[in-house]
Amino acid sequence: MDDLGRATAFPLENTAHDGASGAADRPALAYTDEVRAATDHLYAKVKDVIPPFEWPTHAPLIHAINALKAEMNAVILAHNYMTPEIFNCVGDFAGDSLALAREAAATDSDLIVQAGVHFMAETAKILSPQKTVLIPDLRAGCSLAASITARDVRLIRERYPNFPIVTYVNTTAEVKAESDVTCTSSNAKQVVEWAAREWGVDTVIMIPDQYLAKNVAAQTDITVITWHGACEVHERFTAADLREMREATPGVMILAHPECPPDVLAEADFAGSTGAMASWVSDHKPADVVLITECSMSDNVAVANPETRFVRPCNLCPHMKRITLEGIYDALRLRQHEITVDPVVSARARQAIQRMLDLPKDAPPSRFDTKAPPRDVLVL
Ligand code: SF4
Repeated sequence: MDDLGRATAFPLENTAHDGASGAADRPALAYTDEVRAATDHLYAKVKDVIPPFEWPTHAPLIHAINALKAEMNAVILAHNYMTPEIFNCVGDFAGDSLALAREAAATDSDLIVQAGVHFMAETAKILSPQKTVLIPDLRAGCSLAASITARDVRLIRERYPNFPIVTYVNTTAEVKAESDVTCTSSNAKQVVEWAAREWGVDTVIMIPDQYLAKNVAAQTDITVITWHGACEVHERFTAADLREMREATPGVMILAHPECPPDVLAEADFAGSTGAMASWVSDHKPADVVLITECSMSDNVAVANPETRFVRPCNLCPHMKRITLEGIYDALRLRQHEITVDPVVSARARQAIQRMLDLPKDAPPSRFDTKAPPRDVLVL
């Protein structure tokens, strides 16, 4: 660690280590005629991305989860990176981090199950402190969230006391609590420009994703200082990968997530959040498309766009993939893996999240001009 507390490597998991449990006493569930009749309409949605021989293993769990949800007045918030049987068949609300944060704040259910990673469940708890929030597997962390601590943020503030700190939602509650405002990849440019105006400065600190910060800096006149964090899924894509995809499938449209390095975005036709990518495919209906992001995203966008062919080189997020139907079923029936956040931390983090949620909601999701020239960014 140096004077800014920089870690030398990213731990793969965050501070939660209890993991998933419940398999030992899980009731045996069978693919009966009743289950088939109750789930056939769901299989019709996902038949192009889930082979028929797999469905009898998913359907009994889906049936049991949906029955428990109704009984317990529970909702499942499903991130775009969930596998298609979760995203399409048990998720009540699905979307990117910003959409899920808004749903967590608005739902009147007593119980929220977060089908996503730990920081998303914490955000749900912060926005709905009176509700019970469960996560199916406590080990579902995030390399970005693990890259920075609350102490790091305090040291950054000491060094740059006059600049607002904009923090990506992919961070722990403690880190959000030390920040001025949060952002997602949907609204990062909007938040950075808002913070510069509010503070009356031309420089904003945007942490912890260095690539998102560099990509935002290329879209605005604001000077950006960032942290050296990165998403282990998106940083693995290279510009050469994208050139090879274009050669292999002439005419393919390439959509990239802004957590990818800037030279990757420069090779793409479009860049935006997972929500913006899904909307782009629905609006433009390309013949062939590749989504430069986590693997399950293509399956979920394909369900809504059967006429488009998806080229599927992708990188798996090992943290998102810890969330399974079995884990969701166990979380509900055992009411297990409850998320708690210290009330003082929660109140401070809520203020940072609420500032983001209070920004005009009609602003379109940030679309990154992939041809914008890069700008210098200081990486701490
Ligand atoms: S995809 Fe990247 S940012 Fe999202 S949870 Fe996985 S490691 Fe974190």
